[in-house]
Amino acid sequence: MTVKEFIDNGQPHDFVVVLRHDVDRAIKSAVKMAKLEANFDIRSTYYVRMTPATFKPAEISELAGLGHDVGYHYECLARAKGDVERAIQIFKAELDDFRKIATVHTISMHGSPLSAWNNLDIWNSCDYRSFDIIADLGLTIDYSNLYYFTDTGRNWDAGRYNIRDHTPSLKHPKPVRRTADLIEFLGSNANKPVFINTHPNRWSNSPAGWCVNAVSDYFINRVKWLISRSRKIAGIAL
Ligand SMILES: [Zn+2]
Repeated sequence: MTVKEFIDNGQPHDFVVVLRHDVDRAIKSAVKMAKLEANFDIRSTYYVRMTPATFKPAEISELAGLGHDVGYHYECLARAKGDVERAIQIFKAELDDFRKIATVHTISMHGSPLSAWNNLDIWNSCDYRSFDIIADLGLTIDYSNLYYFTDTGRNWDAGRYNIRDHTPSLKHPKPVRRTADLIEFLGSNANKPVFINTHPNRWSNSPAGWCVNAVSDYFINRVKWLISRSRKIAGIAL
């Protein structure tokens, strides 16, 4: 189920898998993943950032053409360095650019881990629904009634390196750390919705590509961890 279908169905309480992806870096890996999913008749939602590596019209329309939903992965407040008015202008302009290529119903904020601003804060002074958006993943979804898995931190129990993506979701009956654990969990009696968030650039079908991703992720995560620690020490709320 896509995020839009989940919302259109009134956030069902039964077992359903909602697959979503954050396209943070090279969109090529997202297109590969989108083709793979389409081969299995799976429809998911791709949240794409507005960066030179990710905002590529041909690839974005390919994602949509494969039957997936395209969402806008915004980071306006970090871009505007905390200026909310400017951030909203950026949001509107970038959303318009996405909508020239694909229909956009839902949005999700990029964590901007290296920035001091939380992108979600732009909605303190403005309503995303005024942009014809039906859901912001950070605000609209009732996480207390679903299982949430993210590959942030390169394992499924995340948390340690994840600065902003904290979600109060249901606790898994058994620890789910490796992909084999997740597969086992999905095959067991999960009786609630399951959200799975993956970053396509972290995945590869070649051992060499996987190693490159793993090493670069390792260093990025160490930097995030250091920033998180130094902010805690400085007493800044994350
Ligand atoms: Zn992101």
